[in-house]
Amino acid sequence: MGVDFDLEVHDIMPVLSVVAVKELRVVAFDCQDLTSTEMVDTLTPEERGARMALVRNKNTKPEMRVRSMAHRMGFRFRLHGARLPGRPDLVFASTRKVIFVHGCFWHRHPGCSRTRMPKSRLDFWEPKLLGNATRDRKKQDALEKLGWTVLVIWECETENEEVLRRKLLEFLGGGGG
Ligand SMILES: [Zn+2]
Repeated sequence: MGVDFDLEVHDIMPVLSVVAVKELRVVAFDCQDLTSTEMVDTLTPEERGARMALVRNKNTKPEMRVRSMAHRMGFRFRLHGARLPGRPDLVFASTRKVIFVHGCFWHRHPGCSRTRMPKSRLDFWEPKLLGNATRDRKKQDALEKLGWTVLVIWECETENEEVLRRKLLEFLGGGGG
């Protein structure tokens, strides 16, 4: 299961820090072997990117950046609203607003350079990726019919803190969640 590499190492690092340095090295080498044999050799870069995007579906770095910023701005919210269409990443129940944090490649950010269609196996990728975008739109429509206001924040928009802060402020308003 080399695909879980990033998340798992990140998650267990605090625990590992108390383990002897020698054992830490052994664990690190094991992880490297896992990724090189299971992923690097068999997948094209595009496939690898898509695979990682899928694996990082929840608790991704861009999502963490949005959660962290919204929290620092004083907004309170629930995570992954399980009963709502599409399980939105952040749910602001009192104001009936939801935020999706989408990876640019996987969810097809319009006009974004990260959204380039893979060159190989287009017959496989195109319907898959366009299907994702179509499903996203349907879920957003369903939410809006239920009276929710929906915002999509794209991965590339989470990388500049000021851009992200302004986007959240504009959507959520000034008075806290
Ligand atoms: Zn983008």
